[in-house]
Amino acid sequence: MIYEDLKILNRPFEEAFKEKFSQFLEKGWYILGEEVALFEQEFASYHQEQYVVGVANGLDALILSLQCCGFKQGDEVIVPSNTYIATILAIIQCGLVPVLAEPDARTYNIDPVSIRAAITPKTVAIIVVHLYGQCCDMDPIMDITREHGLKLIEDCAQAHGATYKNKLAGTFGDFGAFSFYPTKNLGALGDAGAVICKSAEDYLTLKKLRNYGSEKKYYNSIVGHNSRLDELQAAFLRVKLPHLNEINAHKRKLAAIYTAKLSEAFIKPAVHPDYYHVYHIYNILHPERDRLKKYLAGNGIGSEIHYPVAPADQLALKGHLTRYDYPIAANIHQATLSLPCSFIHTEEDILHVIDVLNAFR
Ligand SMILES: *Cc1c(COP(=O)(O)O)cnc(C)c1O
Repeated sequence: MIYEDLKILNRPFEEAFKEKFSQFLEKGWYILGEEVALFEQEFASYHQEQYVVGVANGLDALILSLQCCGFKQGDEVIVPSNTYIATILAIIQCGLVPVLAEPDARTYNIDPVSIRAAITPKTVAIIVVHLYGQCCDMDPIMDITREHGLKLIEDCAQAHGATYKNKLAGTFGDFGAFSFYPTKNLGALGDAGAVICKSAEDYLTLKKLRNYGSEKKYYNSIVGHNSRLDELQAAFLRVKLPHLNEINAHKRKLAAIYTAKLSEAFIKPAVHPDYYHVYHIYNILHPERDRLKKYLAGNGIGSEIHYPVAPADQLALKGHLTRYDYPIAANIHQATLSLPCSFIHTEEDILHVIDVLNAFR
């Protein structure tokens, strides 16, 4: 059983994609057209928000959000020690200093206690990452940002449609940064991203930043990027957005089966009624993770590791961090294994994986 198959995943939408592509050819408008504008409106309305700016990818969604804040070189941004490297790269690309804070060992999400410990007079922002599809513990995090006057950016690349106390990921912070990389719960057929923001001013700045710093053609008021959401990807995303809740519900149904039936030999994701977890990734922890992964492969079951190398151990980050020892992150990276839990999988598939796992000795 394959871990994920994007071609099969997108099959239910194929006819609608083809229809969109024909209309696109017919229209002949390739950059920042009606599809981008409509997707932005629809993504905003899904979140009951006013401002969404489509951008080229999730990394740029983070970079443009940070640049919107106008921080100065050397300012510090707190970020979880176990995130995907993109979150940290965004901070470095903006000339800022990433200060890593450890996650909670049970939820894998940034621990408000370690955020407090990481704050210095140079701290200007926190980027929380709703990892694997579960929101961070937002009440105490919002308290910290208010107390210290910090900007809050949410990395929602894994959390489309996830909620905390019935509030959607991406609507807590000054900015909600999304990726629509093909494997994400809302995935395009190529690279794509978006930012939700709260003020008209940030909205205008983001629109300029994604388009060469220009609001009016050939007049450039700030140093911008070429980071536009592709018109065709926006058209495809408009096909899939109405199905996001259905995709999430399906993943949750599969996850619930794992959580109910997997033996206690495996540490399973924490479940709490305040959190609507959308299981971008269903992961378990096991002390013999590598042997377990081989065992699954031997039984024809694909699995993945998110992620095999902790950010602090990445060659790319040498010299960029304030510290390199993060034991909680290190434990997660050593023991985590992601199980098949996709829109393409059936309940029977999951029951089979469970039988194989529960027989692991
Ligand atoms: C996928 C991902 C990103 C980056 O998204 P891209 O669209 O690939 O640039 C950033 N952060 C997290 C947590 C991700 O999972």
